[in-house]
Amino acid sequence: MNQLLIQNVSLFDRNDSLQKTDILIEGNYIKSLNPANFTQSNQCKDEIIDGSNFIALPGLMNCHTHIPMVLFRGFAEDLNLNDWLTKKIFPLESKLSEELVLYGALMGIAELIHNGCTFFADMYFFMESVAKAVDISGIRANLSLGLIDQNGEDGIRKAETFFNNYHLSSQQRIHVFFGPHAPYTCNLQYLKQISNLAKKLKTGIHIHLNETEKEVKDFEDQHHKRPIVALEEIGFFGQTSICAHCVHLDQKEISILKSENALVVHNPSSNMKLGSGIAPIPSMINQQIPVSLGTDGAASNNQLNMFKEMHMASLLSKVSSKDGSILPADTIFKMGTETPGQYLLNGKAGIIKENAFADIILINQSSPSLFPNVIISKSMIHSLQGNEVDTVIINGRIIMKGHRILTFDEKEIQKKANQLIQKTYLC
Ligand SMILES: [Zn+2]
Repeated sequence: MNQLLIQNVSLFDRNDSLQKTDILIEGNYIKSLNPANFTQSNQCKDEIIDGSNFIALPGLMNCHTHIPMVLFRGFAEDLNLNDWLTKKIFPLESKLSEELVLYGALMGIAELIHNGCTFFADMYFFMESVAKAVDISGIRANLSLGLIDQNGEDGIRKAETFFNNYHLSSQQRIHVFFGPHAPYTCNLQYLKQISNLAKKLKTGIHIHLNETEKEVKDFEDQHHKRPIVALEEIGFFGQTSICAHCVHLDQKEISILKSENALVVHNPSSNMKLGSGIAPIPSMINQQIPVSLGTDGAASNNQLNMFKEMHMASLLSKVSSKDGSILPADTIFKMGTETPGQYLLNGKAGIIKENAFADIILINQSSPSLFPNVIISKSMIHSLQGNEVDTVIINGRIIMKGHRILTFDEKEIQKKANQLIQKTYLC
């Protein structure tokens, strides 16, 4: 089995101090963590990385995005969600093709990797193209074909075929969930049907919930109850559930998310950009709801940078609660790593430990943003901007080294993607 040794790298211990460590990777997993220079180089038959100038962190996990939407970055600015979606995004999406989505997905994945992200949970269409981009790039992903009422039975059949063809594919780096878009685009009967299918296939769902005040009010006007209450009543939950946004919630809905053990995904930049509001994240964390982080798509962010998202989550909660001690660095860091790793991948991701997946990023310890370099603690996540990430390892394979992606020709993909955008949208 292929072995990779990261020698003499700095790793945070339980006390938040850096310890020099050797990390031995075998196949897809971390085989052992030893004190620095303990592991004999001749024990490792394959590649050795000199980690002496690096800090090792678990790869960041982006739990809600629409990765091909990098294609639309800058096309829809300074709008509320409703106008953003109906006046700009839907017309742009009507011209998408398999080829465009493949190139868009590769460019989005390139941005994730450069910024230290080793996993993303995606909901979109032309998902075969996204799966192909995941396969080519070497990243880990949870993929859902987005479904709305208009897709009908045919859409459900396509989602099931996508599940059958891609779940646990690409060396098991791909997991497939079902993606009913939201309670305002899917009727309750359709939501129930999709949820039942996910349960039958023993997989999960990925959905947008209570993103704006307007959608909640419209739903209440129609159904005389709040969306998450209605979902509970039809038995929608009960499987692994990725619930994006969850901005406008009452206490009953928070209690349902807790009792149904849903994973909430906080998208602070997107919620700010589209003026959607502020999710009650500290309250949910206090009530032991697993809360993770996501960038949402690049058209509503405009960056796919999980370091920025961790920073934004912290600042947004601090300013909205007028409490500078809320969501400390350790909590924020767990939201970006360990919590989703525990929830979505059985504790095998989002953490550097023996027998976990070898999803590791190496940060350049002498980066200006880490100065002074003598007092580094986990609070450094507030300072990191993403460009400090030098090396990215996913599933035991080096995907980026010296800031260069090794699995595909990024420049060539970018050139081709720009040509396709020009031809499709700008001619
Ligand atoms: Zn979204």
